[in-house]
Amino acid sequence: MKVKKIAVLTSGGDSPGMNTALRAVVRTCAYKNIDCVGVSRGYQGLINDDIKTLKTRSVRGIINRGGTMLYSARSDEFRTKEGREKAFSNIKKHGIDGLVVIGGDGSFTGGLIFQKEFGIPVIGIPGTIDNDLYGTSHTLGYDTALNTVMDAIDKIRDTAISHDRLFFVEVMGRDAGHIALNSGIAIGAQEILIPEQNMGIEGLISSLKDSKKNGKTSSIVVVAEGDKTGKNVFDLARQVEEEFPKYEIRVSVLGHMQRGGSPTCFDRVLGTKMGVRAVESLIDGVSGKMIGIDNGKIVSTSLKKAIKGETKIDPELIRVSRIMNI
Ligand code: ATP
Repeated sequence: MKVKKIAVLTSGGDSPGMNTALRAVVRTCAYKNIDCVGVSRGYQGLINDDIKTLKTRSVRGIINRGGTMLYSARSDEFRTKEGREKAFSNIKKHGIDGLVVIGGDGSFTGGLIFQKEFGIPVIGIPGTIDNDLYGTSHTLGYDTALNTVMDAIDKIRDTAISHDRLFFVEVMGRDAGHIALNSGIAIGAQEILIPEQNMGIEGLISSLKDSKKNGKTSSIVVVAEGDKTGKNVFDLARQVEEEFPKYEIRVSVLGHMQRGGSPTCFDRVLGTKMGVRAVESLIDGVSGKMIGIDNGKIVSTSLKKAIKGETKIDPELIRVSRIMNI
């Protein structure tokens, strides 16, 4: 079947680079003489028929903007069969032949179900800062988030050094420690606590004692949201405080600022390449795949594998961080 019209949407948590990928999808469609429509607010926009034509000039000036021009949303209605039926009736009404979903694992799960139920081809672009999808070394927005976290902790470090303080900095990563591990190495953290590896409170205290013995007067501990050493970062700080009554301890939770900001050069190039390949894949009759990157090359993996496959922490990063925190 010849593809004549493609719809694109952004869904789940936003990430820097979503706009870049959207721009690439729209312009590739124009280049290939295919109509392109943008769906606002993720799957909810499909249900509500919030669908508009996007032309080359509709996406001007967004390559460097964080967030998503299409808005993102979480749609509970799309989790129901009735909701998805409404969404598909709008797909039919607009004559849409394929769907590009820019989002994370939840968005891909929804897309896969939708494809199975109604036969509409779906291609995923991994737009999430967490880097938690199998089949791509980098998700879109991850590099920007790493740089944002690094810049923020560099600033915290200045005040930590000036006041001889121990800072616990919580970064995003409920299930994956990629942001914590990479940013932790980049800012010279004393310890990096991630969900994949629990060093235990004793291990942490002993590392901090050693660092004090070795003359450190201030330290940063980077903690991924999903780390299980304490109940949460505040509980962790309290437990450590009991051992170091003379150390001034502070907690900083970076929060949503990690998701915002202008995408880095890496994410802009990545988003552009992914957007182009997503449209080309639909034209070639490919469906149910996620576009990824592996050693600089654009690749594709089945959405099913992308969601279910395990993304592993690089053991070399753990090894070098151990050497650095002497
Ligand atoms: P992030 O990684 O940033 O959290 P995400 O894409 O994983 O992004 P979710 O909130 O998990 O974000 O999913 C986004 C949307 O995808 C949901 O609001 C829902 O509309 C749809 N979705 C997720 N899971 C399903 C499912 N099992 N069935 C149908 N739709 C789903």
